[in-house]
Amino acid sequence: MGSRLVSSIVKDKVRSNPLVRPIELITDLKENYGLDIPYHVAWYGKESATKDLHGDEELSYAHLPWSMLFIDGTFITNKYKGTLLGATAKNGNKEVFPFAFAIVSGETVDNWRWFLQRISEVLLDEGRQLTFISDRHGAIIDVVRTIFSASAHGFCLYHLKENLKKKEVSNALSESFNSWVKDVRRLPIYEMIDTIRVKMMEMISRRKLASEKWCSVLCFVIEDELKNLAAKGSHWRICPASESIFEVHVDLSVMVNLDKRFCSCYQWKLLGFPCEHAIQVIQHSGLCLYNFVDEYYKADFYRATYATPIFPIPDIEKPPAGDVFLLPPHTRKPPGRLQQSASSQAVKLKGR
Ligand SMILES: [Zn+2]
Repeated sequence: MGSRLVSSIVKDKVRSNPLVRPIELITDLKENYGLDIPYHVAWYGKESATKDLHGDEELSYAHLPWSMLFIDGTFITNKYKGTLLGATAKNGNKEVFPFAFAIVSGETVDNWRWFLQRISEVLLDEGRQLTFISDRHGAIIDVVRTIFSASAHGFCLYHLKENLKKKEVSNALSESFNSWVKDVRRLPIYEMIDTIRVKMMEMISRRKLASEKWCSVLCFVIEDELKNLAAKGSHWRICPASESIFEVHVDLSVMVNLDKRFCSCYQWKLLGFPCEHAIQVIQHSGLCLYNFVDEYYKADFYRATYATPIFPIPDIEKPPAGDVFLLPPHTRKPPGRLQQSASSQAVKLKGR
């Protein structure tokens, strides 16, 4: 986990108590956010928070890689109510990727469990490490733990507090599934699903066409970001400890290990592409920067994501009106606290 992320969480604490000790931060993050962080991460998080309080406020969430899934729910405002649950990721070009959604009777633990189980059936096979982000009730944390603990892949879930939520998550979530579908949630269920399908179809086509014009090795946005990072530290002093381990002297010196693709600022691990320190080391060593970036950020990977279109469903191929009876979910007013299990109406969007 990135120390910058920790830094965001502890920033308020450092502001009110600049002498707070890393060990106190570890306890606090464990108790209030369910996060397990090693000592050095807490230490660096605190250092970084202290530094940020005097400088720029970098938004960690702008950098989250795709293995983060934002999960949230929104009320359906049509006649029968219900809730639309969504799981949203980011693609290699840092764009929002609606991954799956479901229509359920309300935001109950049972319904979340059902939804996350369907997601686990797809994602656990992928062999990826998953991180869930949610501002939902703590009970969902337990659901995630139950469903994903059987796998060898780690996860963690940030149950975010009000202050953090306002600042950063709103940025991330505001462009997520909730806002993506806000104009469709008053439609009758059939039109709602069909409208979402058409939106997805258009988006996939638009991104496919755009990416075909890229002549860069990496996704457009990442290529740009690496250029900016590379420009940061051309004057830093780089001292080799071995052929793959280096010490980079900035304000705080850091250690870069090229073999392990690791920098002690933890950004490389968090981002999936080299941080500004590692970039200097790679260039200093005369190596190719692209060989140190995760496949996920490469333009070819992105193109593969959007290679298969969602196909149109012309009206003539749809069942005639009157042939299909979709019963509305059993909701009551106000919705959201029901105990029955998930409704049978669900649609999973295509994966990558
Ligand atoms: Zn670094």
